[in-house]
Amino acid sequence: MRFYFPDSQDQVDPNFDFLREEHLPHRIRQRDDRYAHEVLGEPAYDGMLVSKAIVDGHVRGAGKYTGAQRRRLYDLGARAFFRLDAPERPLDSLGDCGAFNYIEEEVPPISVDDAIDFYDGCGFDAGVSVDHLVPAFFSERAPVLFATDEHQAEVAGWRRRVEITLAFAEDFLRRHRERGCSFEPVASAQGWSPSSYAESVVHLQRLGYERIALGGMVPMKTNQIIESLEAVDDVRLPQTRLHLLGVTRPRELGRFQNFGVTSFDSTSPFRQAFMDDTDNYHWPGGEHYTAVRVPPIDGNARLKARIRSGQVDQDQARIGERDALMALRSFDAGEVSLGEVLDSLRRYHVVVGEADRRTGVVRDRTEEYARTLDDRPWDSCTCGICERVGIEAVVFRGSERNKRRGFHNLAVFAMDLRQRILDAATTTSTVRA
Ligand SMILES: [Zn+2]
Repeated sequence: MRFYFPDSQDQVDPNFDFLREEHLPHRIRQRDDRYAHEVLGEPAYDGMLVSKAIVDGHVRGAGKYTGAQRRRLYDLGARAFFRLDAPERPLDSLGDCGAFNYIEEEVPPISVDDAIDFYDGCGFDAGVSVDHLVPAFFSERAPVLFATDEHQAEVAGWRRRVEITLAFAEDFLRRHRERGCSFEPVASAQGWSPSSYAESVVHLQRLGYERIALGGMVPMKTNQIIESLEAVDDVRLPQTRLHLLGVTRPRELGRFQNFGVTSFDSTSPFRQAFMDDTDNYHWPGGEHYTAVRVPPIDGNARLKARIRSGQVDQDQARIGERDALMALRSFDAGEVSLGEVLDSLRRYHVVVGEADRRTGVVRDRTEEYARTLDDRPWDSCTCGICERVGIEAVVFRGSERNKRRGFHNLAVFAMDLRQRILDAATTTSTVRA
């Protein structure tokens, strides 16, 4: 089971100064920064997934690359740009179009040759055909009756998106041959139900594809994914390898491999570090810790607005911020007690904490923070980051800390994934025996 980490320009600055909160003056973003695979003790993923929309921009706006970064990616090629050639474990690269960015359009605003120019121009190992997402899914185990004309029209719209995707896949393979490309062509299969996914796979196999990426599964529930995989499994040829595009429930991956899934991509463990309300710092075996929020006053537009409106006292906020950070570091060094650091955090949160809109009460996370700090998970973690930055890994504050915690989560995820795959393989062989 190969895990691809989607690129969204997530790097950390190895020279970031946590005490002064400063970068070196001449740092060049991306070039001087480090990807997760460059800072973790062991690479947590097997490859990177890079979307054309993120690099080249898309209908809804610019991508995440500056003009200079984009030029450098095309000039150097993906292997050198992402520094994928670690001697002990070189990583793969996979390109796709980033269909989510043009889901609102009638037809994808990208031609087959545009996509090939991107994959070939950047020298990716593999590239996914141009596709169009279907913004709906219906389980056939709980059939919905499409009796009204409106519903019928809706289904016709989804069918059209699937047909567009299949037509693009056919052209993609033809142009890939005509242009003599060396990257591996991967077909995208879309659907709105288990049987429509299966029909797409039948069609794509007939065209000659041996690797098929199943798209549109991001909002789906685990049982809907399983149902679709079962339907696809009934028609899947032995040589067909499946990729799941965007997996948000990676705990089920052990089960997915029994349906021919050989790879997937997910940002979920990374993003939970700073998007989840409570599960920010992961621990092997499925345990989670809440990161300790010390929001920076500088660069926080919402906080600044509250200072300007007189809701928050600026001096008090600055003192509270400094004290909270100092208390955390002193706690890490064993110089202050858990009670003292929790008091500092509480004082800062009274000043800057966001009040609940309904109750007007600032959320008290003391219990969650006490558990994180008392267990000191960063002390025993060997991911390659926690040993270096210590308690900063559990501090929820700015991208240098939050992304490092995301990278730590990737390392934990990789460890758990290996275990889940072993467990699933053992269960399968026991059942067969
Ligand atoms: Zn760690």
